[in-house]
Amino acid sequence: MISTEELLAAVKGTVLLGEPMKDHTTLRIGGSADFFIDPLDREDFCRAYSFFRKHGLPCTVIGRGSNILVHDEGIRGAVIVTTRALGEFSLSRGLLTVGAGFPLPAAAEKTFAHSLGGLEMLQGIPGTIGGALVMNAGAYGQEIGSVVSWVEVFGNGKPKTLCREDLFFGYRQSSLAGSVILRASMRLERLPAAETGKRSVLRDEAFAKRRLSQPFDRPNAGSVFRNPSRQDDPEGLGAGRMIEACGLKGLRYGGAVISNKHANFIVNEGDAKASDVLELIATARERVKEKFGVLLELEVRLLGCENVCC
Ligand SMILES: Cc1cc2nc3c(=O)[nH]c(=O)nc-3n(C[C@H](O)[C@H](O)[C@H](O)COP(=O)(O)OP(=O)(O)OC[C@H]3O[C@@H](n4cnc5c(N)ncnc54)[C@H](O)[C@@H]3O)c2cc1C
Repeated sequence: MISTEELLAAVKGTVLLGEPMKDHTTLRIGGSADFFIDPLDREDFCRAYSFFRKHGLPCTVIGRGSNILVHDEGIRGAVIVTTRALGEFSLSRGLLTVGAGFPLPAAAEKTFAHSLGGLEMLQGIPGTIGGALVMNAGAYGQEIGSVVSWVEVFGNGKPKTLCREDLFFGYRQSSLAGSVILRASMRLERLPAAETGKRSVLRDEAFAKRRLSQPFDRPNAGSVFRNPSRQDDPEGLGAGRMIEACGLKGLRYGGAVISNKHANFIVNEGDAKASDVLELIATARERVKEKFGVLLELEVRLLGCENVCC
C-alpha cells in the first residue's frame, strides 16, 4: 500500500486517483486506472515510474492512447502518460532527437518542412513517438523503425541508450514492447527540392485517401487486426476486406460497431464498453477463420485485460 501523501510528495505533476481511462484513449472506452499520473517533466516522469516500481505496483506507460483498448474493469496500479513530460524536439543536420511524448504527426510535419524525408507519410498517424516505436507504426510504405538511430529507455532506475543493432522492428511490432521509452533519435534523408515536391504530392494523396477510407467522425483505435501474411492471404485482401467478405460491416454489439467505411475499424457509437468491442473482435475472428481459415491477430493492444483471452 502507498499513502497519498507520500505519492503527492514524490510526484510534481498531476496525480489522479480512479481516473476513467475513456478520457485518455481515442476509442473513448475504458474503466478507471487506480493512479493516473501526468508528470511535469522528464525528471518527474522517471521519479514517478521509480516510485511505483519501488512499491511493487504495476506501471503502464501510454502516449496518446490511439492503439489501446482498456478493459471495463480498468487498470490496476499506475498509468503514466508521456505527452507533457517527454515532449522534447530538436533537429540538427538531419538528426532528429525527439521525446517519447512528442506527437508523431507534428514530428512528421516539422521534419518534412525542413526538406527531411523518412517520416512524412506517417503524418496521419495520431500517436506519440513512444507509441509509434513500440508498434513500429507505418503507412504508405514508410515505418518509423527504418529511420531510428538510437532509443533511450528507462530501466533499473536509470536511462540507458539502445543503438540500432540492439533493436528489432517488424510489421507493427518491435523489441521495445515492455520497455519504457524516454526519447529517440532518427537519421532523416535530406531531400532535393524536386524530390520534396514529388513526396509532398504523394503525402497529400495518401492523406486524402485516409480521410475517405477511415471513419474519422467516430472514436476508434485505428486498425483492430494486423493484416495476415501473404502466405495466409495470397489475394492480398487484408483483414478489412476479409471481415467485409464475411458480411460483418455494420455489425453492432451494444455501442460498438464494425465500421461501414472500413471493416478493420471498430467505432464507438457513444456508449460502447470494452466488452462490446471484445464481442465484435471474437465474432470477426471466428467468421474469418471459418471462411478463410485465417486466425486474425490483434494490432490493438489490450490494457487491463490480462484475463481476457484474445
Ligand atoms: C484514426 C487512426 C488511424 C491510425 N492509423 C495508423 C496507421 O496508418 N498506421 C499505424 O501504424 N497505426 C495507426 N494507428 C494506430 C496508432 O495511432 C499507432 O499505433 C500509434 O503509433 C500509437 O501511439 P500512441 O501514442 O497513441 O500509443 P498508445 O496507444 O498510447 O500505446 C500503444 C502501446 O505502446 C505503449 N507505449 C506508448 N508509449 C510508450 C512509451 N513511451 N514507452 C513504452 N511503451 C509505450 C503502450 O503501453 C501500448 O502498449 C491509427 C490510429 C487511429 C486512431
